[in-house]
Amino acid sequence: MVYLESPGSLTFEVQDIPAIAKVAHASGAVVVADNTWATPIFSRPYELGVDVTIHSGTKYISGHSDLLMGLITCKDAYYKRILHAFKNMGVCLGPDDTYLVHRGMRTLAVRLKHQQEAGLRLAKWFEKRPEVVKVLHPALPSCPGHDIWKRDFTGASSLFSILMKPYSRKALGAMLDGLELFGMGYSWGGFESLIIPFNPPRTAAAWTHDGVCLRVHVGLEDVDDLIADLEKGFERLDKSA
Ligand SMILES: *Cc1c(COP(=O)(O)O)cnc(C)c1O
Repeated sequence: MVYLESPGSLTFEVQDIPAIAKVAHASGAVVVADNTWATPIFSRPYELGVDVTIHSGTKYISGHSDLLMGLITCKDAYYKRILHAFKNMGVCLGPDDTYLVHRGMRTLAVRLKHQQEAGLRLAKWFEKRPEVVKVLHPALPSCPGHDIWKRDFTGASSLFSILMKPYSRKALGAMLDGLELFGMGYSWGGFESLIIPFNPPRTAAAWTHDGVCLRVHVGLEDVDDLIADLEKGFERLDKSA
């Protein structure tokens, strides 16, 4: 089995899924892709050669940070085997969670349309900040995976990372702890904006950045309000640096 997650949800490398699938299939391997970042709205993994997809239903698909759920979809050839494993493991979705995920899915497309635009606006705003060295957002031409993203995806969700200059823990704390609209949490894809430092990065590629790495999730708040909150955050950072 070859297990993919594209883009990687910390460092945002975009994988060449068709090329990987071709090599994997030539050796008889199954290609499994985690499509949580793009969701089925922005990516069609089966058209790229994937055999099985998984999604965290906890994130954009339910969208309201109120349930935990995983989803598997697959080509016909794998259905019986996956169903068999599923039954043997005894995993079973609760009725309340099923209700909530159906409700959430009804607004998935409109939420993602908004979050795509909001995320891009913030990503471009971060690019202009003197504290920021690089923005890792696949829809920005400066992001290393941009060309593959453009070829294989129809949009970008609102999770991306920024690489900043080195700052002390104290300065970073002054910035992040004082934010009013951004929470600090790992489980993205909901209505709330989040910002969280990551170190070390989880990446297969060489990593040379030794400054601060932050992952940003843009929720459904007003974008001007988010920018105002971050502007004050950067002021606190610069003052304590
Ligand atoms: C969060 C996450 C998962 C796991 O999802 P949970 O529903 O929180 O267990 C899987 N893949 C990716 C890319 C994720 O971000």
